[in-house]
Amino acid sequence: MLTERPGVFSGHPKEECGVFGVFGHPEAATLTHYALLTLQHRGQESAGIAVAGEREILHHKGMGLVGEVFGERVLKELSGRAAIGHVRYSTTGSSLAVNAQPLVFRHRLGALALGHNGNLVNAHLLRNRLEAEGSIFQTSLDTEVLAHLVARSKEPTLEKALTEALQQIQGGYAFVLLTERSLLGLRDPYGIRPLALGRLKGAYLLASESCAFDSLGGRFIREIEPGEMVVIDGAGIRSFQALPVAGRALCLFEFIYFARPDSLLNGLSVHSVRKELGRILAQEAPAAADLVIGVPDSSLSAAAGYAEELDLPYEIGLVKNRYVGRTFIQPNEKLRNLAVRLKLNALRKVVEGQRVVLVDDSIVRGTTSRHIIRLLRQAGAKKIHLRISSAPYRFPCYYGIDTSVISELIASQKSVEDIRAEVGADSLAYPSLEGMLRAAGGRERGYCLSCFTGTYHVPVPDGAGKLVLEEK
Ligand code: 5GP
Ligand code: MG
Repeated sequence: MLTERPGVFSGHPKEECGVFGVFGHPEAATLTHYALLTLQHRGQESAGIAVAGEREILHHKGMGLVGEVFGERVLKELSGRAAIGHVRYSTTGSSLAVNAQPLVFRHRLGALALGHNGNLVNAHLLRNRLEAEGSIFQTSLDTEVLAHLVARSKEPTLEKALTEALQQIQGGYAFVLLTERSLLGLRDPYGIRPLALGRLKGAYLLASESCAFDSLGGRFIREIEPGEMVVIDGAGIRSFQALPVAGRALCLFEFIYFARPDSLLNGLSVHSVRKELGRILAQEAPAAADLVIGVPDSSLSAAAGYAEELDLPYEIGLVKNRYVGRTFIQPNEKLRNLAVRLKLNALRKVVEGQRVVLVDDSIVRGTTSRHIIRLLRQAGAKKIHLRISSAPYRFPCYYGIDTSVISELIASQKSVEDIRAEVGADSLAYPSLEGMLRAAGGRERGYCLSCFTGTYHVPVPDGAGKLVLEEK
């Protein structure tokens, strides 16, 4: 039985993870370090790097931000020409050092390091079976299940063992794997979680988001296809379909919230899609207002689109302190309110006496909107029209976003009017599902909409949830 533990579901959905890989560069660990800094928005809980050294896989990982985990000395020790890296926000398994990635282990075919973004929905079932057969687990990560399946396979090569293991796991995932001689990348058969291929001179790169390639001066080549496995080694790159394509269902929330605006997903610029979401929202739900502001950072593109469409001034109405960690612990209501003020302040000069359109990318529990609206009122805003750039978030995600408790999702419990009243806005509107899809290039591009529709591509077995591997 999945039970919620106090303090673990912190109120926000947790952004998933970021993965990176490089093969064929003398400074592999340093490049990975830079790439992880670029992917930091995808997870701030722990970070890790594994490199293929001369004779073995070396690794270092720890809790905290990339900059806290890695220093010059550690990076110097991680010498090698291939590496993978990971930044994590827990989706399966709680926030513990033992759950930091990459996971590194030795098995029959050699050493293997694994980095995973996503969530395996049947991990608890597989783990129960493996434990019944005598396997010992060291973490509460679903990723460790894959490691066991690979290690137990009788197939002669890693690629074959991995392919066999993949046939048993279900969920949304992007994996990067490192052996002493190769780098592998693979994506679930629906392509729910993103993974892209890039190049930097002679080296190959893999990353959750293409912005990581840009920050290294590399170039984006293409996205890894659903079910595709790429193997990069001294002989170059090979690719094959490890699992047949089951469909195309990239997580739409990547566009809405997770990804950086300067990344490309599904062949589209994240910023442009967000801007278009704002435009469509303005067409569907215009507001009589004096100016438009967005909640930094993830809503700024949508706010700009909303303003442009209605020919309203786009303003900066909220200032964010970017140096306040996201994993701030708020033991009581009073401190929680203070923490919000530490993180965001309203610009009185801009909003005082004004009718303001406030654009945010999503309402999950409703706490953020309520606080921000209070801030804006205190700063003198006359009217606040809240516009959300994605449809109501009504269903839990089991494929890598930590929102597996339906009772926490305000839109699954309340009507739009009740949400409006609860957050204290003068009006509230969301885009239609169709409008949202249009902004993302059309339904035919293939998106996972589970959190909006409650329809799940990959069936979710009973008991799937974040802490399921710890409930013993
Ligand atoms: P709420 O306060 O309604 O629970 O959360 C909504 C706010 O959380 C929005 O401002 C949105 O930008 C942000 N948000 C949406 N998804 C995530 C996520 O996965 N992790 C974090 N930290 N914030 C999120
Ligand atoms: Mg936000």
